[in-house]
Amino acid sequence: MGSVLISEVGPRDGLQNCKAVMPTADKVRWIRAMAAAGVKEIEIGSFVSPKLLPQMADTGEVLAEAVTIPGLTVAVLVPNLKGAEAAIAGGAHKITLPMSVSETHSLRNIRKTHAEVIAEAKVIADRLAELPEGRRPHFEGSLSTAFGCTLEGPVAEAKVLACAEALMAAGCDEVGLADTTGYGDPASVRRLIRAVRGAVGAGALTGVHFHNTRGLGLANVLAAHEEGITTFDSSLGGLGGCPTAPGASGNVVTEDLVFMFEAMGIETGIDLEALMATRAMVAEALPGEELYGFTPRAGLPLGFRGMPAPAPAG
Ligand code: ZN
Repeated sequence: MGSVLISEVGPRDGLQNCKAVMPTADKVRWIRAMAAAGVKEIEIGSFVSPKLLPQMADTGEVLAEAVTIPGLTVAVLVPNLKGAEAAIAGGAHKITLPMSVSETHSLRNIRKTHAEVIAEAKVIADRLAELPEGRRPHFEGSLSTAFGCTLEGPVAEAKVLACAEALMAAGCDEVGLADTTGYGDPASVRRLIRAVRGAVGAGALTGVHFHNTRGLGLANVLAAHEEGITTFDSSLGGLGGCPTAPGASGNVVTEDLVFMFEAMGIETGIDLEALMATRAMVAEALPGEELYGFTPRAGLPLGFRGMPAPAPAG
C-alpha cells in the first residue's frame, strides 16, 4: 500500500504562467484551503525579479503567511543566493534551485551558464551550512528540461548525470528530475531515474516534476512510483508551464493525481472533495484562466472511499 507525498506547485509553477496576477490575499486563502484539505507540501512562490515575473512579486508576503500554517512544508524556488537569503529570512522549509540541463534554456530562464548555476548552488549550500540544524531549509537542485528541451531538442542522459553529480558535489541535499517540457514517457522516466540514482544514490533522488503537455503525466508518475519515487509535484487544475520554454504547458493535475493514488490504495493524506472545492477560489481569483482535470469534471465514482480528512492540527 504505502504512501506518497504530493507537492503542490500551483502557487508557483501554475501562477507564474497565468496572465493575470493573483492577489496576495487570494493566494494565501487558496494555500490555506489546500493545506486544510491535507496537502502537506506547497511551493508557494519564487524569489525572482518582479520585473520578469510580476506574478511572484509578493512571494515574501505569501511566505510569511504560509509558514504560520501548522504542519505544512513550505517550499520556494530561488534562482540565486539573493533569493535563497530571502527564503531563509522568511523561514522557508525547502528551497529549490533550478538547473536546466539544456544550457540554452538555463540562459533563457535564469541567465546563467551551467558553471554559474553550480557556483550559485555552492554559495547557497555554504550559506545554509552556517545555519543551526533546526533552521536549515532542505536544499534541492532541480534538473529541469531533463527529458528534452523545446529550444535544444533531445537532452543527452550523460548531461543529466553530470548536472546531478555537480549539484550534489556543490552541496545540495538532493536533486529532482523535472520534465519541464512534457517530453518524457514512462520508459524514459524509468531509464533516467535508474541512471540518476546510479550516479548520485537512491536517497539523493526522491522527487519528480512532470508536465502533462502530451497527456503522459499520470503514466510518467506511475512509472516513477514503480521505480521507488515518493514525492510528486503537481498543480491544482493543471495550471502551469514555463514562460521561457515555448510550448510547455501545465503540470500534472493534482486532483487526478490524488485520485489515482487513492484509488490504488496508496495514501496521499488529502481529502479529495475538499481539495476540489478549492478550484472555485482559483476560478474566482483568476477569471478566464482554464482549469484542467478529469476527476473534478466527472466527480468521484459512486461509493469511492478516499482517505478520511486529516485531523485538524494543534
Ligand atoms: Zn514546471
